[in-house]
Amino acid sequence: MKYDDELDIVQLARYASSMNSRARRLRILGTLTAVSLRDRIFESGGKCEWCHTNLLRQEFELDHIENLANGGSNTASNIVVSCPNCNRRKSARNVVSFALETLARTGIETPIIKRVLERHNVRGSVQRSLFGDDPAEAAGRPLFTTSDTDDDAPPPEDVPPYRW
Ligand SMILES: [Zn+2]
Repeated sequence: MKYDDELDIVQLARYASSMNSRARRLRILGTLTAVSLRDRIFESGGKCEWCHTNLLRQEFELDHIENLANGGSNTASNIVVSCPNCNRRKSARNVVSFALETLARTGIETPIIKRVLERHNVRGSVQRSLFGDDPAEAAGRPLFTTSDTDDDAPPPEDVPPYRW
């Protein structure tokens, strides 16, 4: 892929280190490496995995899909490649409501959105939500939890955003 040569493995290692430190503080299992992050990034195909915006030669951010504070693992499969806009919108939100909002906004069910909805058993509830039922509530889960906003802070100031 074209952006292969432009991924900075040193920056990826710093990102991995930063996420690993946070996971250790929260006693969450899983260790990320620069290589596992790089492979995850390649899987995105250069698109924001939430809104499908093209990220080629654009800034992008890495984030845990399921917040560590909510039991998400610190593994590459729980990492999402996101445009800065989506990452900012998601940060203070429950991942299910964010996924549903993004789906409604773009009309594109990306593989990550599909996975989030399936994992939280929301799939069958999406149709009902059109009639006013709360899909997260229908799935038997609270829409918001108190620990949503204090995890997954942006990376340290000294880590510049990636560019393709
Ligand atoms: Zn996006």
